[in-house]
Amino acid sequence: QVPLKPGRSLMDWIRLTKSGKDLTGLKGRLTEVTEDELAKHNKKEDCWICIRGFVYNVTPYMEYHPGGEDELMKAAGTDGTDLFDQVHRWVNYESMLKECLVGRMAVKPIAAPKGEGCCTYSVFLQQIPEDETILCMKTFTIKCILVCPKKVYIFSLLYFLFYSYDWFQTDSLITIVIYTKQKDMNAELVIVDCQDKQLRGEIIVGDHSYLVEVDLDHAVQEDVAVNIAEKVGKVEIILKKKDNVHWKMLGQPLEGHNTFVKRVDRGLFYRKCKLVSKTEVTHDTKLLCLMLPKSTHLRVPTGQHIYLKKNIAGTEVVKPYTPVLPFLPLDFKEPFSHDGVHIYLMIKIYSCGLFTQALDHLQIGDYISVSNPEGNFKKSQVQTLEDLFLLAAGTGFTPMVKLLSFALTEVMCLRTVKLIFFNKTEDDILWRNQLEQLALKDERFEVQFILSQPTKDWVGKQGKISSSLLSEFVKRSRKDSKVLICICGPTPFTEQGVQYLKDLGYSQEEIHAFTA
Ligand code: FAD
Ligand code: NAP
Repeated sequence: QVPLKPGRSLMDWIRLTKSGKDLTGLKGRLTEVTEDELAKHNKKEDCWICIRGFVYNVTPYMEYHPGGEDELMKAAGTDGTDLFDQVHRWVNYESMLKECLVGRMAVKPIAAPKGEGCCTYSVFLQQIPEDETILCMKTFTIKCILVCPKKVYIFSLLYFLFYSYDWFQTDSLITIVIYTKQKDMNAELVIVDCQDKQLRGEIIVGDHSYLVEVDLDHAVQEDVAVNIAEKVGKVEIILKKKDNVHWKMLGQPLEGHNTFVKRVDRGLFYRKCKLVSKTEVTHDTKLLCLMLPKSTHLRVPTGQHIYLKKNIAGTEVVKPYTPVLPFLPLDFKEPFSHDGVHIYLMIKIYSCGLFTQALDHLQIGDYISVSNPEGNFKKSQVQTLEDLFLLAAGTGFTPMVKLLSFALTEVMCLRTVKLIFFNKTEDDILWRNQLEQLALKDERFEVQFILSQPTKDWVGKQGKISSSLLSEFVKRSRKDSKVLICICGPTPFTEQGVQYLKDLGYSQEEIHAFTA
């Protein structure tokens, strides 16, 4: 993030987009843009960028871009989709930039597929009987072949071998069975939603996702059950029929049905969750409890975040938040059992914050859109650890909550967990009591509070993240012990911390930085 000039906040941008000003310079006309035309608009004062086939004039947005003008200019006059996806694919640019839309990219004719493998594969596909499943898979794979014949040939064959779904019915139930053939399938890897007859079942397979997405033949009741046979990787989605009629088919396939794609290529899916409670954690931070719909099956994995989406003054604004536990367990004998219904978010309300102010105005019973989880932290990074260090600043504490609980409960070889918690003042420390109690109760756990703006009564440690502070507090319990240092806070805090740790000799694999 770069400091923005006064009058250039997101709210100011939203106001400008609503002012009726012609932000494209095309007087509301949409145009088809060729690559040559796009390339001509590559200057700050005349800058067009293509994202997913749509071209935007981003010149008026330059001064409002939180990442700065130079970042935007990296994509000037080109297709910025990859760059956008790398940095913040979750930002709802369609809504934010809708007044800057110049038009679509002109479609280039697609070359005929080449290559032996591809032909063989097409013949192979033609021989398969056409039921609703296969038809959809064929369309998808043929589309892929046109884009990248050889790679997709092998990939799609594997997909045929490994992924399939089936369904059957009784008088009252519809059961959809997905055979993932993946060992260690678990509840965090299955996300199911069923709204207005539309069923969406997503299975996470490493960096990929498999989707069953259909407009159901008939209405179903609100509650959906999910059974997972962990060892064999079989997932059952059980729906209750609203009327005891015989279904001729499961339903009409929707766009993503029966596809197996990279997770980053699967758009974020949102469902509306009800705010059921809001409690104070500190003077400016609240614990929000959201309730998932009965028809949703979703567990947010340790170290991952979700996105909240809210319409603010006619623009859809999206911000990431990291779910926590309702409280810090003191007894780590058994894994914390998720009730499957509630998501807890610890959120700092900024007095000038666009999104958090809107969140703070939500009333109990109001709804807010919550996305599927994302994030690149893997529990396997912790599973064989001896020493775990958690460096948190402010609400950068949030990913540490589940991590702490997981490590103390499930990592058998763990010797020490040390939380080094940076805050401005004592009043800002989140869950201080709970952390101190935990340190008393569990001898593996230690907490160190460091304040950057303490009052004169503070007898504890004072300062900001620095090499000397880290060398004092981050020490292996024994020479060559297996260690992980997790860090989260304001971006400069995290970046400086990572650099100091590297300077102190910790390797890339021994450091995990939580970022968007
Ligand atoms: P904004 O309107 O963005 O402003 C926040 C404050 O910063 C205001 O005081 C504003 O004046 C100032 N500001 C904003 N941009 C600039 C700028 N460019 N230059 C100078 N000052 C600026 N937060 C939590 O509270 N809990 C969480 O669990 C949590 N999880 C997160 C997970 C991830 C992966 C990430 C990336 C962030 C997370 N955050 C979390 C932060 C959260 O996403 C929002 O950024 C935060 O809530 C502020 O949003 P806002 O719209 O209210 O504030
Ligand atoms: P804060 O209260 O402003 O700051 C907490 C501590 O960090 C203070 O001691 C502060 O010192 C220090 N600090 C702030 N900026 C610093 C910098 N540039 N360099 C070194 N130290 C710095 O923090 P906050 O308002 O709670 O913000 C938390 C941040 O964490 C947000 O930016 C949020 O986006 C981020 N976050 C990220 C994730 C994630 O990526 N997964 C999850 C949750 C939160 P000073 O007195 O000097 O300010």
